[in-house]
Amino acid sequence: MTQTAGKVATNESEALFARARALLPGGVSSPVRAFKAVGGTPLFIKKGAGCRIEDEDGNRYVDWCQSWGPLALGHAHPRVVRAVAEAAANGTSFGAPTRAEVELAALVQELHPAVERLRFVSSGTEAVMSAVRVARGFTRRDLIVKFDGCYHGHADYLLVKAGSGLATLGTPDSAGVPAPIAGTTAVLPLADEGALRDFMRERGREVAAVIIEPVPANAGLLLQEPSFLAALREETTIAGSLLIFDEVITGFRLGPGGATAHYGIRPDLVTFGKVIGGGLPVGAYGGRADVMALVAPEGPVYQAGTLSGNPVAMAAGRAALEALMDGGWATLEARAAATEAALRPIVEAAPVPARLVRLGSILWIVFQRDAPRAFSAVDGVAAKRLFPRFHRALLDRGVYFPPSAYEVFFASTAHDDAAIAQTARALREGLSAATP
Ligand code: PMP
Repeated sequence: MTQTAGKVATNESEALFARARALLPGGVSSPVRAFKAVGGTPLFIKKGAGCRIEDEDGNRYVDWCQSWGPLALGHAHPRVVRAVAEAAANGTSFGAPTRAEVELAALVQELHPAVERLRFVSSGTEAVMSAVRVARGFTRRDLIVKFDGCYHGHADYLLVKAGSGLATLGTPDSAGVPAPIAGTTAVLPLADEGALRDFMRERGREVAAVIIEPVPANAGLLLQEPSFLAALREETTIAGSLLIFDEVITGFRLGPGGATAHYGIRPDLVTFGKVIGGGLPVGAYGGRADVMALVAPEGPVYQAGTLSGNPVAMAAGRAALEALMDGGWATLEARAAATEAALRPIVEAAPVPARLVRLGSILWIVFQRDAPRAFSAVDGVAAKRLFPRFHRALLDRGVYFPPSAYEVFFASTAHDDAAIAQTARALREGLSAATP
């Protein structure tokens, strides 16, 4: 299981990547998977169990990517696998209402303090896109405010200064987004209450919604002061704008009530993805009943989906949430705390300035002395210089981190002591290897 240090053979991954590149742009189905920021060939994963994955060459890794967040219980959790198999055996999609969506909706409403009613979709991007449309419909305003470094999926008007994926590729914004559409989004810096209050006092009456990842985790982990989030709530209320918490990462990972409960600040709308689907493609948006009443067919804001509320995905989400309710959240916090306890001393003793940042089961190693709160405070030069060698050194020691310095990594309930110890050893050597 544990691998000794040294370059591992990746012939199968290389052959598959060569084929993939001819077929799929960049050889991948989503850009950050391509290893562009770290070099080398992306690993093609054959299977996973708990906190471990195996690639097509048979190499095994402790996995800290966990599908970029959805897998709070690790890979192939027996309860989720059983639920998926049972649901699939009864038919995978009907395009008609099912009991499964009512049951998952009831669970989400019961667990999350900001959700009175909700709508299921199939991805985080769709959830955010739809929530923004509802906010625009409700307020009859067009302008959206987002924060530099926050990622909210790839809808045109949100692909502005959007953190990791774009930062990794070195492009501030995407091509193909018409300027007038990008112009419906205003971007403010994180952690700057003055800039926020000035903007809202001046233009708040034009603002349909302010959207934020309350725990910004797409440009590293840029933890905000609770007072900043409180200011956001106050200014949006004064201006008659809606506050949207994008909880695609934090929802049901940071505990049952996500970041909303963690900070005790209630947004008008919330978006979910990742954990809510237990590893299958699910997203959701919800919030105030009076706002959600605008969604078609009840109201005039159109939003639809052939596979929305898909019964197999609903079953996976429900199984995952129920496992988290049955002690899973406590285990998740315990495993994440054990991870921090093992890794922090090693990070702090590294031959280069480095910090470990953690909130719940979301962790980040940043190559600078102070933990940044804004994207502009992240030392991109150090990240670019140190991270590729660091990442490679970990891979060679059987530890899989997301392949970008701007990405956080995720603990799951399945990260056992052996996996954490292996990671700690690899990290000690990896941090030395990263030092020029
Ligand atoms: N919002 C946030 C906060 C995210 O982290 C992501 C994905 N990383 C999204 C939205 C988009 O979700 P998806 O990739 O499922 O479209």
